[in-house]
Amino acid sequence: MDDQTATEVLAAEARRLQAARAAVERECVEIGAEQAMDPISDATLLEREIDESLLHQLDQELRDVEAARLRVAAGSYGRCDVCGTAIADDRLRAVPATTRCTAHQSEAEILLESRMVDGADSPSDAMTRAANEATQNLDLVPNDDVVPDDEGQDPASPEDLAMHVRKA
Ligand SMILES: [Zn+2]
Repeated sequence: MDDQTATEVLAAEARRLQAARAAVERECVEIGAEQAMDPISDATLLEREIDESLLHQLDQELRDVEAARLRVAAGSYGRCDVCGTAIADDRLRAVPATTRCTAHQSEAEILLESRMVDGADSPSDAMTRAANEATQNLDLVPNDDVVPDDEGQDPASPEDLAMHVRKA
């Protein structure tokens, strides 16, 4: 893509993002007014959180566009950060601030996803930890009065015991 086209595409993208930002800000003002009338409404709190994360995202995208404009000036716009090949015009028109070709963008996204999975609590980790905590809590309970209302039944499972401990 030539510099002239790139400059136009990036200017249009910046206008689009700024218009979106202004719309979200107007909504924030409205929500602020609603909140003043009903300060403990969960709905307005949630809307506000969504709008704040939207603003954050739009600010990030505006910074990306600004960085892309600098790359146009430096003559490096439209080349993949990873492999250096020219990014297709279609892709640049769709995502003007992109720094990667399609192949390397999807590679980066897969990498990011797998990192997020590694870093996050997987359900099985959380289960294991909950089970360990339950076992630790059991040690604090004297054995002779663990489950007073389960007399005559099968011995309670560790999970049942844990439930009783938590209720106590
Ligand atoms: Zn590439």
